[in-house]
Amino acid sequence: MQDALGRPLETLRVSITDRCNFRCVYCMPKERFGADHAFLERRDILTLEETARLAAVFATLGVRTVRITGGEPLVRRNVEHLVELLAAIPGLEVALTTNGALLAQKAEVLSRAGLGRVNVSLDSVDDATFRALNDVDFPVARVLAGIEAASAAGLPVKVNAVVKRGVNDDGLVALAARFRWSGHPLRFIEYMDAGTTNGWRLEDVVTAAEIVQRVGELWPLEPLGRSGTALRFRYRDGAGEIGVISSVTQPFCGGCSRARISAEGHLYTCLFGGPGHDLRGPLRAGATDDDLAGLIRDAWTARTDRYSESRPSEGRRPKPEMSYIGG
Ligand code: SAM
Ligand code: SF4
Ligand code: SF4
Repeated sequence: MQDALGRPLETLRVSITDRCNFRCVYCMPKERFGADHAFLERRDILTLEETARLAAVFATLGVRTVRITGGEPLVRRNVEHLVELLAAIPGLEVALTTNGALLAQKAEVLSRAGLGRVNVSLDSVDDATFRALNDVDFPVARVLAGIEAASAAGLPVKVNAVVKRGVNDDGLVALAARFRWSGHPLRFIEYMDAGTTNGWRLEDVVTAAEIVQRVGELWPLEPLGRSGTALRFRYRDGAGEIGVISSVTQPFCGGCSRARISAEGHLYTCLFGGPGHDLRGPLRAGATDDDLAGLIRDAWTARTDRYSESRPSEGRRPKPEMSYIGG
């Protein structure tokens, strides 16, 4: 199944909560996500069974990977049960993106439930910088312990770091150093203009080219080409690889094969919004799997999204928050 621009549907990202135990400055700034913030009501959030049912329908339409995200997915009770349900869907690989805060205690049970791999978001290995970035004073050592625990539980781990100028860019070389020889590929993500609450400015973006240059100056790099959203590089000395996700400076909409479901069951065909398609309503009103497949097919085949490529001319438009749509 292809969209209007010839792109297949291959990956599904499901956000299972809009809540989080962090308040990363570039994602859920405290002043906008404080005690008075209206998070989704429990009854409006898909149950784990409803989420798995939708994922199974997506699998019949060609999806091969489902990635669980949020908010912070590990704050959702019984997330391991969802992993179990998803892992039972034939032909589907189950991945998870997490801030790692609860990973040390959850890794083993997630692995046993059938999780295939995990991405841990970690923007600095400097404790003071990390505590300031997550803005809840969470120590970096506990995330590093989570990465170790996941690895010990047999899960392949990638580390994702968003770089924001003046906030953590002075630590990007230290991050690279920490994960050289670790077996964990490190992906640097350009700071994106997601949502409307983070006060994004182009000046705050550290470009992928600059990141590669700064790391490559110390440890020569060799390009490995693009894989998915990342441009990959290997260290010439064999220490492993890094990647850069250059959504701002070198957008990759032409290869974008991802659908997203928010925690309340709205389907989005682009990270930057556009119309959400309500799947929860029909699901709860008794739609069959065929009905649901039809709705998804209609949304995907009509898809023309290429926000990142058209950003300069398109200007600003209402956009869902990262913590809502799941990154
Ligand atoms: N809480 C989990 C986590 O942090 O991994 C999952 C959800 S989070 C929204 C998914 C990813 O989006 C994280 O890697 C996070 O760093 C990234 N992210 C959030 N806001 C971003 C922004 N403005 N630009 C680039 N990446 C962002
Ligand atoms: Fe939470 Fe992830 Fe957003 Fe940070 S990036 S505030 S951990 S949802
Ligand atoms: Fe895909 Fe939208 Fe990102 Fe382009 S801007 S890569 S279409 S999610």
